Amino acid sequence: MRAEQQVPEKDFFLPPEGSVIIRGGRVIDPANGVDEVCDLALSGGRVAGRGKALPWCGASKVIDAEGLIVTPGIVDIHSHLFATPGNPNAWAGEYSVFPDGFSFRSGVTTMVDAGSAGWRNFDLFRVSVIDRAKTRVFSFLNIASFGMVSDIIEQHAPDFDPKTTAAKAEKHRDVIVGIKSAHYWHPGWESVDRAVEAGELSGLPVMVDFGYFMKERPYWRLVSEKLRKGDISTHCYRGPVPVVDGNGKVFPYLFEARERGVLFDLGHGGGSFLFRNAVPAFAQGFYPDSISSDLHVQSMNAAMMDMPTTMSKCLAMGMPLGEVIARSSAVPARMIGHPELGHLSPGAPGDVTLWNLREGTFGFKDSVGGRLRSDRRLECEMTILGGEVVWDLNARDGTEFGEIPFGEGIREGEFFIPPER
Ligand SMILES: [Zn+2]
Repeated sequence: MRAEQQVPEKDFFLPPEGSVIIRGGRVIDPANGVDEVCDLALSGGRVAGRGKALPWCGASKVIDAEGLIVTPGIVDIHSHLFATPGNPNAWAGEYSVFPDGFSFRSGVTTMVDAGSAGWRNFDLFRVSVIDRAKTRVFSFLNIASFGMVSDIIEQHAPDFDPKTTAAKAEKHRDVIVGIKSAHYWHPGWESVDRAVEAGELSGLPVMVDFGYFMKERPYWRLVSEKLRKGDISTHCYRGPVPVVDGNGKVFPYLFEARERGVLFDLGHGGGSFLFRNAVPAFAQGFYPDSISSDLHVQSMNAAMMDMPTTMSKCLAMGMPLGEVIARSSAVPARMIGHPELGHLSPGAPGDVTLWNLREGTFGFKDSVGGRLRSDRRLECEMTILGGEVVWDLNARDGTEFGEIPFGEGIREGEFFIPPER
C-alpha cells in the first residue's frame, strides 16, 4: 500500500478557488461525529469540506476562528414570527417578531414558527413574513383556522378542520413542516385529536402545546396514547407537566413515551421552563430531543432571552456541549423533515455559527424566577448563512479601516470640499 493511501481522505481536500475558509476553530458537527480543531471551507454557498491547515491562497475570505467553537447554524423549531401590528396580546400579532431582526445575532439560521397562523391566514403569513425573510423560515400550521390571532380562536372546536388544514399544508409543502395544537382550555381532546387527524392526512408531525392542564385530559395520556411516533410535545419542563415524583425520580411514562417515538421539545417561552423539572430530568437522562426558544416579544425580554442563553442553561445542567449542539441543530432539523440542515457535510447549505464559550460567573433564570449559577456561557460570535456573513460581533470579517481606499462609501460627485476661509 502506498503511503498516501493511509492518510485520511480529508487531509487531501483542496478547497475550490474563491472559498471562504474558517480557520483553526474547534469544529463540532455531531451528525458527522466530528469534534476537532480544523479548518472548514465554504464554496458556492455550501460546505465544501474540512481539513487540517487547508491551503488558503486561493480563498476569497479567511475567517480566523482560533479559540472559537464552529458548529452548524442553529435550528430553532419553536418561535413566533407572524408579526403584525393588528392584534394586541397575540402571538399572531404584536407578540411575534420578524425573523431577521432576531435570528442571526443569536446564531440561528433556521426558524420554525410554531402555529401562529392557521389555514385561513397562512397565505398572509407567507407573503408578509416567510417569503421576505432572509432567515430560513418554516412553519407549523395551527389546527385553529385563524391560528393565534387570539386565545379564543384556539378554543372553538367546530372550527378545527383537519381536511382543509391538511390541504393547505400540502399546498405549502415547501415551508409547512407540521401541524400545531395549542393553548386549549377545554376538558376534551378536540384540539389534539383534530391536529393528529390533520397530521395523518398530510403525513406531517404534530406539535402540541398542551395549554391548560385538566384532570379530564391528563398529560400522561397525551404522550402515552394520543401522540404518534415523530409527534412533538413542546414545553416539556413546564410547571404542571408531571416530570418527577415526590422522591425526585423521573416518572417512567416519559421514558416509555420516548421509547414509542414521541419527541420532547424544550420550548422555553415566557412561562414554560422550570429548573425544578429540568434539573432532575437532566440528571436522570431525560434530555429534551430539541432545544428551542419559543421566541416571542415577552420571552425574549424575560428569562428565555435567546437560543444561546437557552443552550447555556442546558450546558449548566450538565448536558455535554456536543449534545447541546446536536439538539439545537441536526436533531431538530430531522424532526421537521429537513435532514439537509443542521450539519456540516460536504454539499450541505453553508450555514455556520461561531461561538465564544465564555468562562466567568454567570446566572440563568427560569420562568418562575428560579436561578441556576454557572461558570460558562455561550455567546454568538459570528453567523454565516449560505456562505455569507450575516452577524459579526467583533468585526472578524472587517478590514483595518485605514486600509480602505478613500472613495469607498462615496458616490461619484458626492464629495464637496468646503471653501477655504
Ligand atoms: Zn409557542
